[in-house]
Amino acid sequence: MAKKVLLWLRNDLRLGDNPALQAAMAAGGTVEALYVHETDRGLRPRGAASRWWLHQSLNALAHDLKRIGVTLHVLEGESGTIVPERARGAAAVLWNRRYGPAEREHDAVIKARLKGDGIEAHSHPGNVLVEPFEIATKTGKPYSVYTPFWQALKQRDIPAPLPKPRGRDAEPTAQADGDYREPAWARKLGAHWTVGEAAAGERLDAFLDELVEGYPADRDLPRKPATSRLSPYLALGEISARQVWHTAMAVAHAEPEKAGSIDKFLSELAWRDFNHHQLYHREDISKVAMVEKYGHLDWRDDPAAFAAWTSGMTGIPIIDAGMRELWETGVMHNRVRMLTASLLAKNLLVDWHKGEEWFWDTLLDADAANNPGNWQWVAGSGLDASPYFRIFNPVTQGERFDPTGDYVRQWVPEVRNLPDDRVHKPWEGGSVKGYPKPIVDLKLTRERALAAFKAL
Ligand SMILES: Cc1cc2nc3c(=O)[nH]c(=O)nc-3n(C[C@H](O)[C@H](O)[C@H](O)COP(=O)(O)OP(=O)(O)OC[C@H]3O[C@@H](n4cnc5c(N)ncnc54)[C@H](O)[C@@H]3O)c2cc1C
Repeated sequence: MAKKVLLWLRNDLRLGDNPALQAAMAAGGTVEALYVHETDRGLRPRGAASRWWLHQSLNALAHDLKRIGVTLHVLEGESGTIVPERARGAAAVLWNRRYGPAEREHDAVIKARLKGDGIEAHSHPGNVLVEPFEIATKTGKPYSVYTPFWQALKQRDIPAPLPKPRGRDAEPTAQADGDYREPAWARKLGAHWTVGEAAAGERLDAFLDELVEGYPADRDLPRKPATSRLSPYLALGEISARQVWHTAMAVAHAEPEKAGSIDKFLSELAWRDFNHHQLYHREDISKVAMVEKYGHLDWRDDPAAFAAWTSGMTGIPIIDAGMRELWETGVMHNRVRMLTASLLAKNLLVDWHKGEEWFWDTLLDADAANNPGNWQWVAGSGLDASPYFRIFNPVTQGERFDPTGDYVRQWVPEVRNLPDDRVHKPWEGGSVKGYPKPIVDLKLTRERALAAFKAL
């Protein structure tokens, strides 16, 4: 009989389109699955919100894996030690790739160690549309500009998703072992989300059925449920980018009237691949400015302003609405992410890394490529970034994208009763009970930021 195979799961918590799981099942022996809450030095620990999602996700996955005869073990410690230990007696260890520089180096060390122990180790395509090393400019360089990347990506055959493997039927009684105590603040997240592979598929289908046609026009309106809300599922791989791509393409084919909107949706999904491309090819993007000169900005140390920003008490309603939405639901609308990030990194001139870390800890979709990639985009240090002189005005942006004020009224009850023409600038016409005056003068801080960036 064929021997045991160890499947090491990381950002790929699904049965469908899971190349490493497919290969493990095809080997014909017993398959044991392992997830490690990694404490190895040099690897970025997950944030608190992401750990909450992960816990639910592992329970759902353990259940699904049991149905195909695979037991999932969840352990905490150094994967550098645990994986080789657990692999003893196995013929092979299989995993899907991850793309951060530290993670790749770490995985390469483990691979070498396993091979040294006489155990095969194979890595498979990770959760991207195209492997970052399989797409390059005409001169063979990594892409640094999004539009040609997107054009090139569209010409590629995106690999078709693999089916869910079938296995022996077994009673699905498993709970992922491992110790998790849910923090009190995280309990509210359960009211907003259903975690797991099945929920991810349902969400995609519902989006393509009901919302995608309005996506191009409505995706920037924070009050409208117009986007897919797939990001937390993609972040932990409960659905793969390839599954999203192919399901959407099939709908575009069957319902040609949706094709234009689906193209727009997939072009946003491609930003995710673009950020992974940068994560793979550049120095640690969560630390190092992609355009070197922006790494030398003279950031201000302003703990009081940072605290007001994190707690949604800046006195600027659309900013506070976004920061409170994040705290309450674990996500924030993309347009408002841009505004809150711009206020921090530009008007307040607080180092964008601090904001990135706050998002990393509080976002359910915290992603090693998308979070720093987008922060660098807003802060102007990304390769294809918003130019430094583009400093969002949160008042005019609020009036444009939340014209009725419904979004800010939802999250900032202090301004609920103000008339529409004041709801985005409550300071005009007196003070508002219980709500602070703006912590910055938007015009003066804009000038200050322009000067600081220009000086570089
Ligand atoms: C400062 C800042 C930080 C961000 N941090 C993250 C993060 O940690 N994780 C994360 O997944 N996204 C991040 N984003 C991107 C974006 O805000 C979210 O992906 C989006 O809001 C998720 O909602 P959705 O799934 O409904 O998106 P949809 O509009 O339905 O898009 C579908 C998918 O495409 C991808 N996508 C869409 N927009 C972007 C984008 N700008 N960059 C990269 N991928 C994109 C996501 O995977 C998303 O789930 C950040 C944006 C900003 C401005």
